[in-house]
Amino acid sequence: MPTTNVRATTKPPRSAIENGAAARAQATAASGVTPAPKPTAPRGAAKARVAKPGAAKAKAGAAKGGAVAKGGVVAKGGVVAKGGAPPKAGAAAKAGAARHARMAPPVETLDRLRAIHPDAHCELDHDGPFQLLVATVLSAQTTDVNVNKATPRLFARFPDAATLARAEPQEVEPLVSTLGFFRQKAKSIVGLSRRLVEDFDGEVPRRLDDLVTLPGVGRKTANVVLGVVWNTPEGVVVDTHVQRISQRLGWTTNTDPVKIEQDLMRLIPKDQWDPTSHLLIFHGRRVCFARKPNCEGCGLNTVCPSAFDAENVGRKPKRDRTGASRREA
Ligand code: SF4
Repeated sequence: MPTTNVRATTKPPRSAIENGAAARAQATAASGVTPAPKPTAPRGAAKARVAKPGAAKAKAGAAKGGAVAKGGVVAKGGVVAKGGAPPKAGAAAKAGAARHARMAPPVETLDRLRAIHPDAHCELDHDGPFQLLVATVLSAQTTDVNVNKATPRLFARFPDAATLARAEPQEVEPLVSTLGFFRQKAKSIVGLSRRLVEDFDGEVPRRLDDLVTLPGVGRKTANVVLGVVWNTPEGVVVDTHVQRISQRLGWTTNTDPVKIEQDLMRLIPKDQWDPTSHLLIFHGRRVCFARKPNCEGCGLNTVCPSAFDAENVGRKPKRDRTGASRREA
């Protein structure tokens, strides 16, 4: 469907940012007191409310107001659609306008990321699909650096599915004991090796449906292997970095990794799903830190709606260290 290019005849709906700014301006004028700033919400959340198709009028208004999405349809969830341009904002909302003006279509942002991180790649050390599968299973709840410290000894002794299938988990445990949940992980990698030998001739299958039947292998692990080894992922790998940066860039308003993956799959061409994860993970590890993102030194700061204001966007909720929730349960 071609993009509808309708000249606006009615005022486009104001975004949440705009409404908030206007309300604060009114309150200031009435009282002479500057109201306290509202709690920071994800930039994408404000954006979502701009484009949320709550009513047909709003949908049409958003399109007229500039939220042009692929095929002229406002993107579900309110994120910028593939190839879409950021919405124009009204003159009344300088803050919202500045944020929206910074946004760029995701594909353009990915091009910039490629220029910033030309060497982005999977940082789990491995030699072949089997070792990558094992390393990815081991990487749950720990860092790639920790996994890379453990796997040389593990793979020296058990380099392939055939050798690891013959081991008992108790033999493997000391080799991975520096990693969290090492007993369960040892059991999983021995179990998956046995399944590979029994059902797949010792080879790693190339289909997600087969991979997720292996012990310890979920959709995310399967897509890491499919993407890195064969560039045929069936989704976008969403880890903590991908989650945080997608939110900061306004690509998603969701917090559930499954929903974030669906948003990214809608926004990004399939042939870029695998590099997208590596680019965002590289950026998260080197520039866009969870705490204190380096917006000044970031090559995306002219297109990122969260630039210089990202500390609280995409962060995990603080842990409850008081035990209150446990006591209530
Ligand atoms: S470092 Fe700042 S400007 Fe760069 S992507 Fe993260 S939030 Fe945006």
